[in-house]
Amino acid sequence: DEGAAIIDGKAIAQTVREEIGVEVASLKASTGKVPGLAVVLVGGRKDSETYVRSKKKGCEEAGIQSFGTDLPEDVTEEELLKVVADYNADPSVHGILVQLPLPDHINEENVLNAISIEKDVDGFHPLNMGLLAQRGREPFFVPCTPKGCVELLERSGIEISGKTAVVIGRSNIVGMPANLLLQRRDATVTVVHSRTPNAKEVTQQADIVIVACGRAEMVRGDWIKPGAAVIDVGINAVDDATKKRGYRLVGDACFDEIKPIAGAITPVPGGVGPMTIAMLLQNTLEGFKRTVSA
Ligand code: NDP
Repeated sequence: DEGAAIIDGKAIAQTVREEIGVEVASLKASTGKVPGLAVVLVGGRKDSETYVRSKKKGCEEAGIQSFGTDLPEDVTEEELLKVVADYNADPSVHGILVQLPLPDHINEENVLNAISIEKDVDGFHPLNMGLLAQRGREPFFVPCTPKGCVELLERSGIEISGKTAVVIGRSNIVGMPANLLLQRRDATVTVVHSRTPNAKEVTQQADIVIVACGRAEMVRGDWIKPGAAVIDVGINAVDDATKKRGYRLVGDACFDEIKPIAGAITPVPGGVGPMTIAMLLQNTLEGFKRTVSA
Protein backbone atom coordinates (compact mmCIF):
# COMPACT_ATOMS: atom_id res chain seq x y z
CA ASP A 1 0.00 0.00 0.00
CA GLU A 2 1.42 3.36 -1.10
CA GLY A 3 1.57 6.51 0.93
CA ALA A 4 1.07 7.57 4.51
CA ALA A 5 0.91 5.24 7.48
CA ILE A 6 -2.60 5.38 8.87
CA ILE A 7 -2.61 6.25 12.56
CA ASP A 8 -5.26 3.93 14.01
CA GLY A 9 -6.79 6.10 16.73
CA LYS A 10 -9.39 3.51 17.55
CA ALA A 11 -6.78 0.84 18.30
CA ILE A 12 -4.49 3.25 20.19
CA ALA A 13 -7.44 4.51 22.25
CA GLN A 14 -8.37 0.91 23.06
CA THR A 15 -4.82 0.24 24.27
CA VAL A 16 -4.92 3.38 26.45
CA ARG A 17 -8.28 2.32 27.90
CA GLU A 18 -6.97 -1.14 28.74
CA GLU A 19 -3.93 0.40 30.46
CA ILE A 20 -6.27 2.62 32.48
CA GLY A 21 -8.44 -0.37 33.41
CA VAL A 22 -5.41 -2.29 34.70
CA GLU A 23 -4.24 0.68 36.78
CA VAL A 24 -7.73 1.34 38.17
CA ALA A 25 -8.02 -2.31 39.23
CA SER A 26 -4.64 -2.27 40.94
CA LEU A 27 -5.39 1.00 42.77
CA LYS A 28 -8.74 -0.41 43.83
CA ALA A 29 -6.96 -3.43 45.30
CA SER A 30 -4.45 -1.28 47.19
CA THR A 31 -6.70 1.61 48.34
CA GLY A 32 -10.23 0.18 48.27
CA LYS A 33 -11.27 3.21 46.21
CA VAL A 34 -12.05 3.87 42.55
CA PRO A 35 -11.91 7.06 40.46
CA GLY A 36 -15.20 8.88 39.95
CA LEU A 37 -16.31 11.09 37.04
CA ALA A 38 -19.37 13.37 37.21
CA VAL A 39 -20.96 14.33 33.89
CA VAL A 40 -23.50 17.16 33.85
CA LEU A 41 -25.80 17.46 30.85
CA VAL A 42 -28.15 20.39 30.31
CA GLY A 43 -30.99 20.07 27.82
CA GLY A 44 -31.69 17.45 25.19
CA ARG A 45 -29.23 18.05 22.32
CA LYS A 46 -28.92 14.73 20.51
CA ASP A 47 -25.17 15.10 19.86
CA SER A 48 -24.48 16.00 23.50
CA GLU A 49 -26.56 13.04 24.69
CA THR A 50 -24.50 10.74 22.46
CA TYR A 51 -21.19 12.11 23.78
CA VAL A 52 -22.36 11.82 27.39
CA ARG A 53 -23.51 8.24 26.84
CA SER A 54 -20.15 7.18 25.39
CA LYS A 55 -18.26 8.95 28.18
CA LYS A 56 -20.26 7.04 30.80
CA LYS A 57 -19.78 3.75 28.93
CA GLY A 58 -16.03 4.41 28.75
CA CYS A 59 -15.98 4.91 32.51
CA GLU A 60 -17.83 1.65 33.15
CA GLU A 61 -15.44 -0.36 31.00
CA ALA A 62 -12.40 1.09 32.76
CA GLY A 63 -13.79 0.52 36.27
CA ILE A 64 -14.34 4.25 36.85
CA GLN A 65 -17.52 5.14 38.73
CA SER A 66 -19.69 7.55 36.76
CA PHE A 67 -22.09 10.06 38.26
CA GLY A 68 -24.57 11.84 36.05
CA THR A 69 -26.90 14.78 36.44
CA ASP A 70 -29.30 15.55 33.60
CA LEU A 71 -30.85 18.98 33.92
CA PRO A 72 -33.71 20.43 31.85
CA GLU A 73 -33.05 23.02 29.14
CA ASP A 74 -34.63 25.76 31.30
CA VAL A 75 -32.56 25.09 34.43
CA THR A 76 -31.30 28.30 36.04
CA GLU A 77 -27.61 29.12 36.19
CA GLU A 78 -27.90 29.12 39.98
CA GLU A 79 -29.24 25.55 40.02
CA LEU A 80 -26.48 24.39 37.68
CA LEU A 81 -23.83 26.08 39.86
CA LYS A 82 -25.28 24.26 42.88
CA VAL A 83 -24.83 20.89 41.10
CA VAL A 84 -21.21 21.78 40.34
CA ALA A 85 -20.61 22.91 43.95
CA ASP A 86 -22.00 19.62 45.27
CA TYR A 87 -19.65 17.61 43.04
CA ASN A 88 -16.74 19.86 44.07
CA ALA A 89 -17.44 18.86 47.68
CA ASP A 90 -17.98 15.14 47.01
CA PRO A 91 -14.80 13.15 47.81
CA SER A 92 -15.86 10.23 45.60
CA VAL A 93 -15.85 12.53 42.54
CA HIS A 94 -12.40 13.19 41.05
CA GLY A 95 -13.46 14.69 37.75
CA ILE A 96 -16.32 17.03 36.80
CA LEU A 97 -17.38 17.67 33.25
CA VAL A 98 -20.14 20.00 32.11
CA GLN A 99 -21.08 19.05 28.57
CA LEU A 100 -20.90 22.04 26.21
CA PRO A 101 -22.57 23.92 24.59
CA LEU A 102 -24.86 25.26 27.33
CA PRO A 103 -28.20 26.97 26.59
CA ASP A 104 -27.93 30.70 25.79
CA HIS A 105 -29.37 31.90 29.11
CA ILE A 106 -26.48 30.32 31.03
CA ASN A 107 -23.08 32.04 31.19
CA GLU A 108 -20.61 29.32 30.19
CA GLU A 109 -17.66 31.20 31.70
CA ASN A 110 -19.31 31.34 35.14
CA VAL A 111 -19.95 27.60 35.03
CA LEU A 112 -16.45 26.62 33.92
CA ASN A 113 -14.94 28.96 36.54
CA ALA A 114 -16.99 27.22 39.26
CA ILE A 115 -15.42 23.78 38.70
CA SER A 116 -12.64 23.04 41.20
CA ILE A 117 -9.35 23.21 39.25
CA GLU A 118 -8.39 19.92 40.88
CA LYS A 119 -11.46 18.22 39.33
CA ASP A 120 -11.45 20.10 36.01
CA VAL A 121 -10.93 17.02 33.78
CA ASP A 122 -11.76 18.95 30.60
CA GLY A 123 -8.95 21.38 31.44
CA PHE A 124 -11.06 24.40 30.42
CA HIS A 125 -10.75 26.34 33.70
CA PRO A 126 -8.79 29.55 33.00
CA LEU A 127 -6.33 28.72 35.80
CA ASN A 128 -5.52 25.34 34.23
CA MET A 129 -5.19 27.05 30.82
CA GLY A 130 -2.90 29.67 32.36
CA LEU A 131 -0.73 27.01 34.01
CA LEU A 132 -0.49 25.21 30.65
CA ALA A 133 0.70 28.43 29.01
CA GLN A 134 3.37 29.24 31.59
CA ARG A 135 6.93 27.89 31.46
CA GLY A 136 7.88 25.78 34.46
CA ARG A 137 4.27 25.30 35.62
CA GLU A 138 2.05 22.25 35.36
CA PRO A 139 -1.74 22.41 34.94
CA PHE A 140 -3.83 19.93 36.92
CA PHE A 141 -5.42 18.82 33.63
CA VAL A 142 -4.80 19.25 29.90
CA PRO A 143 -7.80 19.46 27.50
CA CYS A 144 -8.65 15.99 26.18
CA THR A 145 -8.73 16.49 22.40
CA PRO A 146 -5.34 18.20 21.97
CA LYS A 147 -3.85 15.85 24.56
CA GLY A 148 -5.13 12.97 22.42
CA CYS A 149 -3.48 14.47 19.32
CA VAL A 150 -0.08 14.55 21.03
CA GLU A 151 -0.58 11.06 22.45
CA LEU A 152 -1.28 9.78 18.90
CA LEU A 153 1.97 11.33 17.65
CA GLU A 154 3.99 9.93 20.56
CA ARG A 155 2.52 6.45 20.40
CA SER A 156 3.17 6.40 16.63
CA GLY A 157 6.84 7.16 17.22
CA ILE A 158 6.66 10.58 15.56
CA GLU A 159 9.34 12.93 16.88
CA ILE A 160 7.99 16.33 18.05
CA SER A 161 11.06 17.99 19.57
CA GLY A 162 12.86 20.26 17.11
CA LYS A 163 10.18 19.81 14.42
CA THR A 164 8.18 22.49 12.66
CA ALA A 165 4.47 22.25 13.48
CA VAL A 166 1.43 24.09 12.17
CA VAL A 167 -1.84 24.13 14.08
CA ILE A 168 -4.82 25.18 11.95
CA GLY A 169 -7.38 26.70 14.33
CA ARG A 170 -7.03 28.65 17.60
CA SER A 171 -10.12 27.68 19.62
CA ASN A 172 -9.91 27.45 23.39
CA ILE A 173 -10.74 23.75 23.36
CA VAL A 174 -8.51 22.48 20.53
CA GLY A 175 -6.22 24.82 18.57
CA MET A 176 -4.86 27.01 21.36
CA PRO A 177 -4.01 24.19 23.79
CA ALA A 178 -2.63 22.06 20.89
CA ASN A 179 -0.20 24.90 20.15
CA LEU A 180 0.84 25.09 23.82
CA LEU A 181 1.31 21.32 24.11
CA LEU A 182 3.49 21.14 20.99
CA GLN A 183 5.61 24.08 22.22
CA ARG A 184 6.07 22.31 25.56
CA ARG A 185 7.49 19.39 23.61
CA ASP A 186 9.93 21.73 21.86
CA ALA A 187 8.29 21.97 18.44
CA THR A 188 8.42 25.32 16.65
CA VAL A 189 4.74 26.11 16.20
CA THR A 190 2.84 28.41 13.86
CA VAL A 191 -0.89 28.92 14.35
CA VAL A 192 -3.06 29.41 11.26
CA HIS A 193 -6.56 30.91 11.60
CA SER A 194 -9.33 32.42 9.49
CA ARG A 195 -7.41 35.69 8.95
CA THR A 196 -4.19 33.99 7.81
CA PRO A 197 -3.76 35.08 4.18
CA ASN A 198 -1.34 32.32 3.13
CA ALA A 199 -2.54 29.31 5.10
CA LYS A 200 -1.48 26.86 2.38
CA GLU A 201 2.09 28.17 2.07
CA VAL A 202 2.54 28.25 5.85
CA THR A 203 1.22 24.71 6.21
CA GLN A 204 3.58 23.47 3.48
CA GLN A 205 6.50 24.17 5.86
CA ALA A 206 5.26 21.82 8.59
CA ASP A 207 6.60 18.43 9.65
CA ILE A 208 3.50 18.07 11.85
CA VAL A 209 0.07 19.51 11.01
CA ILE A 210 -2.82 19.52 13.46
CA VAL A 211 -6.01 20.47 11.64
CA ALA A 212 -8.92 21.87 13.70
CA CYS A 213 -10.68 24.50 11.59
CA GLY A 214 -14.19 23.03 11.43
CA ARG A 215 -14.25 23.24 7.60
CA ALA A 216 -14.90 19.95 5.79
CA GLU A 217 -11.82 18.80 3.83
CA MET A 218 -10.35 22.33 3.70
CA VAL A 219 -6.73 21.14 3.85
CA ARG A 220 -5.81 19.64 0.48
CA GLY A 221 -2.99 17.39 -0.70
CA ASP A 222 -0.91 20.30 -2.03
CA TRP A 223 -0.84 21.94 1.46
CA ILE A 224 1.24 19.07 2.82
CA LYS A 225 5.01 18.65 2.78
CA PRO A 226 5.93 15.12 1.63
CA GLY A 227 6.39 12.86 4.65
CA ALA A 228 4.62 15.18 7.13
CA ALA A 229 2.37 13.84 9.91
CA VAL A 230 -1.24 15.05 9.68
CA ILE A 231 -3.56 14.87 12.69
CA ASP A 232 -7.12 15.66 11.62
CA VAL A 233 -9.38 16.76 14.49
CA GLY A 234 -12.35 17.70 12.30
CA ILE A 235 -15.69 15.95 12.40
CA ASN A 236 -18.09 17.11 9.68
CA ALA A 237 -21.25 15.44 8.36
CA VAL A 238 -21.57 15.81 4.58
CA ASP A 239 -24.59 14.70 2.53
CA ASP A 240 -24.11 11.30 0.92
CA ALA A 241 -27.08 9.64 -0.77
CA THR A 242 -25.21 6.32 -1.02
CA LYS A 243 -25.22 5.99 2.80
CA LYS A 244 -28.17 4.63 4.74
CA ARG A 245 -28.06 7.59 7.15
CA GLY A 246 -27.90 10.05 4.23
CA TYR A 247 -24.53 11.46 5.30
CA ARG A 248 -20.95 10.50 5.98
CA LEU A 249 -18.32 11.92 8.31
CA VAL A 250 -15.24 13.65 6.93
CA GLY A 251 -12.40 15.51 8.56
CA ASP A 252 -11.10 19.05 8.12
CA ALA A 253 -8.40 17.57 5.85
CA CYS A 254 -8.91 15.77 2.54
CA PHE A 255 -7.78 12.24 3.44
CA ASP A 256 -7.70 10.83 -0.12
CA GLU A 257 -5.51 13.64 -1.46
CA ILE A 258 -3.16 13.71 1.52
CA LYS A 259 -2.61 9.97 1.98
CA PRO A 260 -0.26 9.57 -1.03
CA ILE A 261 1.86 12.54 0.14
CA ALA A 262 2.02 12.50 3.94
CA GLY A 263 4.14 10.21 6.11
CA ALA A 264 1.30 9.55 8.53
CA ILE A 265 -2.35 10.57 8.78
CA THR A 266 -5.31 10.00 11.08
CA PRO A 267 -8.58 8.85 9.49
CA VAL A 268 -12.02 10.33 10.24
CA PRO A 269 -13.76 8.60 11.88
CA GLY A 270 -11.38 6.43 13.89
CA GLY A 271 -8.55 8.91 14.48
CA VAL A 272 -8.67 11.69 17.06
CA GLY A 273 -12.31 11.08 18.07
CA PRO A 274 -11.75 7.87 20.08
CA MET A 275 -8.71 9.41 21.78
CA THR A 276 -10.75 12.25 23.27
CA ILE A 277 -12.69 9.89 25.53
CA ALA A 278 -9.59 7.85 26.36
CA MET A 279 -7.88 11.08 27.52
CA LEU A 280 -10.93 12.00 29.62
CA LEU A 281 -10.62 8.66 31.43
CA GLN A 282 -6.88 9.20 31.80
CA ASN A 283 -7.46 12.66 33.27
CA THR A 284 -9.98 11.23 35.74
CA LEU A 285 -7.46 8.59 36.79
CA GLU A 286 -4.76 11.27 37.21
CA GLY A 287 -7.10 13.34 39.42
CA PHE A 288 -7.87 10.27 41.52
CA LYS A 289 -4.18 9.38 41.91
CA ARG A 290 -3.43 12.87 43.26
CA THR A 291 -6.05 12.36 46.00
CA VAL A 292 -4.90 8.89 47.06
CA SER A 293 -1.22 9.85 47.16
CA ALA A 294 -1.89 13.13 49.00
P1 NDP B 1 -14.05 26.33 16.31
O1 NDP B 1 -15.09 26.64 15.31
O2 NDP B 1 -14.22 26.78 17.73
O3 NDP B 1 -12.65 26.92 15.82
C1 NDP B 1 -12.26 26.81 14.48
C2 NDP B 1 -10.92 27.49 14.30
O4 NDP B 1 -10.54 27.34 12.93
C3 NDP B 1 -10.97 29.00 14.59
O5 NDP B 1 -9.81 29.38 15.29
C4 NDP B 1 -11.01 29.62 13.21
O6 NDP B 1 -10.33 30.86 13.09
C5 NDP B 1 -10.27 28.60 12.37
N1 NDP B 1 -10.72 28.67 10.99
C6 NDP B 1 -11.98 28.73 10.51
N2 NDP B 1 -12.00 28.84 9.18
C7 NDP B 1 -10.71 28.85 8.79
C8 NDP B 1 -10.08 28.98 7.54
N3 NDP B 1 -10.78 29.11 6.42
N4 NDP B 1 -8.73 28.95 7.50
C9 NDP B 1 -8.01 28.84 8.63
N5 NDP B 1 -8.56 28.72 9.85
C10 NDP B 1 -9.89 28.74 9.93
O7 NDP B 1 -13.84 24.77 16.24
P2 NDP B 1 -13.22 23.73 17.32
O8 NDP B 1 -11.82 24.07 17.60
O9 NDP B 1 -14.16 23.54 18.44
O10 NDP B 1 -13.27 22.39 16.45
C11 NDP B 1 -12.53 22.24 15.27
C12 NDP B 1 -12.94 20.95 14.58
O11 NDP B 1 -12.66 19.85 15.42
C13 NDP B 1 -14.42 20.83 14.24
O12 NDP B 1 -14.52 20.14 13.01
C14 NDP B 1 -15.00 20.01 15.37
O13 NDP B 1 -16.12 19.28 14.96
C15 NDP B 1 -13.84 19.09 15.66
N6 NDP B 1 -13.77 18.60 17.05
C16 NDP B 1 -13.48 17.28 17.23
C17 NDP B 1 -13.30 16.75 18.49
C18 NDP B 1 -12.93 15.33 18.62
O14 NDP B 1 -13.08 14.75 19.68
N7 NDP B 1 -12.38 14.70 17.59
C19 NDP B 1 -13.47 17.57 19.70
C20 NDP B 1 -13.69 18.98 19.41
C21 NDP B 1 -13.84 19.44 18.12
P3 NDP B 1 -10.77 32.20 13.90
O15 NDP B 1 -10.23 32.01 15.30
O16 NDP B 1 -10.10 33.29 13.16
O17 NDP B 1 -12.26 32.24 13.86
